[in-house]
Amino acid sequence: GFCRSTGTYHSLHRLPHYGITDAPNVADYVLSHILAVADEKHALIDAATGHVLTYYQFRRSVLSLATGLRALGLRPGNTVLLLAPNSILYPIMALAVLATGAVVSPANPINTPDEIEKQALDSGAILAISAPELAPKLASLSISVLLTTRSPSGESALSAEELIERAIPEEVPSPSTASDVAALLYSSGTTGASKGVKLTHANLIGMIRTLRWTVDVSSAKDDIYLAFLPMFHVYGLAFFALGLPCAGATTVVMSRFELRAALEAVERFKISNIPAVPPVLVAMLKIGAEFKHDLSSLRRMITGAAALAPATGREFRRRFPWVEVRQGYGLTESTGAATYFVAAEEARRRETAVGQLLPGFEGRVVDVASGKPVGPGEEGELWLKSPTVMQGYLGNDVATSESLDGDGWLKTGDLVFFDEDGFVHVVDRIKELIKHNGYQVAPVELEAVLVRHPDIVDAAVIPMEDEEAGQIPVAFVVKSAGSGLTSEDVIQFVTHQVAPYKKIRKVGFISAIPRSLAGKILRKQLVALIQQAPHSK
Ligand code: AMP
Repeated sequence: GFCRSTGTYHSLHRLPHYGITDAPNVADYVLSHILAVADEKHALIDAATGHVLTYYQFRRSVLSLATGLRALGLRPGNTVLLLAPNSILYPIMALAVLATGAVVSPANPINTPDEIEKQALDSGAILAISAPELAPKLASLSISVLLTTRSPSGESALSAEELIERAIPEEVPSPSTASDVAALLYSSGTTGASKGVKLTHANLIGMIRTLRWTVDVSSAKDDIYLAFLPMFHVYGLAFFALGLPCAGATTVVMSRFELRAALEAVERFKISNIPAVPPVLVAMLKIGAEFKHDLSSLRRMITGAAALAPATGREFRRRFPWVEVRQGYGLTESTGAATYFVAAEEARRRETAVGQLLPGFEGRVVDVASGKPVGPGEEGELWLKSPTVMQGYLGNDVATSESLDGDGWLKTGDLVFFDEDGFVHVVDRIKELIKHNGYQVAPVELEAVLVRHPDIVDAAVIPMEDEEAGQIPVAFVVKSAGSGLTSEDVIQFVTHQVAPYKKIRKVGFISAIPRSLAGKILRKQLVALIQQAPHSK
């Protein structure tokens, strides 16, 4: 519903409470919900080994690990860096940290040691929980490291796995309150480098309620989910570690996305729901005759984190007519999903939309020039308000006040319009952010790397549309007089210093980077440049 006098869109549905209204923190909230699920129901299954964790074991493991972490000296308010690929241990580790009253800061395992060190320092982590194979990435940091599992090299380093086996599962209520920070996720927001997004216990509980509602209205009780989306990102964390356990669902976990393994898992575990990103749908369309897997159990593809090309959605529905495709939209700063299609039929009919506002969300579309809210059919920046909107960026009041207005509206940096029926259509991204395979790439981080090259005088990084990855980062470079620098040199220089998904994929040489009087890079001019002259990329 749109209210003309306030210029505000409201969700058509109320955010339900699900009986447990008084749990003040997310750990107690989740633990009390999973207590209500049948003990023997499968909570998590390891796709590679078939190892099953029942809801009883899941809850016990969280309590045991929390006991172990407290015994190690972890205290309320401490921050723990979580550096691991997806596993059935991941939700346990995240929840156990939260149960002690500590803050969890999940890191992308493919980030470079420098990028991880930055996050560890910025978040103030005093402990890292790391997969054994990733521990070398923490070598230059002087914080304690707890391994996730026993080290294959037989070192004596302690692991979460051992703590779960050894410690007593104690029912200790978490000391955290609703307004305490629970998670620090890293996002570049509308501008600048990656920042710690402060998500409170109330934010996470709000998202659990929202996700639980979507499960209730659009899924079936016996749904089995496939989890290859990374749990360090808000989409995976909120869905797999928090929301689905509270809904009593079964989740099959893969350490990362790999097409063949994912299709095998669908057949073997009778997967019905796949939360995905657009490149996964693109990959599934390329399945050739050599794949003989039975995908008849599949009912739903849920896609978000980046725009789904209408043609991809259409082609997917044609190729897999028994599978629904439902798009959602959200941000780290809103603890994930803000819009979603609860009716699959609507999603099929509205190819360019990302669904309607979810319960608990209000939206505004603000005209970029006038700063005034506009009505249906008119474009502007999407502003969001909900119990899930972040508290702000850690230690960065300037960025916080640029993103959150005094009334609690979050400025998304996305250009959208609402149609007459309240469906949101994402038109463009106003903010600098580049999204490669759903991962965030902050242009300023790459620009800072580029200008460290002795032959590079100035540089700007912008997105270029790409059929497979959504977008690729492209660099415009001003080289010093007489330099013989080549595109390949530039690509190589950056590749060695950043995570693989941040790699510069194309380079254009230019005599000067267009800048405003204030020195801001005029990115749209550069975007227009590659759109006009594709051969120059
Ligand atoms: P992140 O914080 O990594 O989840 O990134 C959030 C951003 O991803 C949003 O502000 C959008 O720019 C983009 N995004 C997320 N979902 C969608 C979608 N369904 N369609 C288009 N863009 C999306």
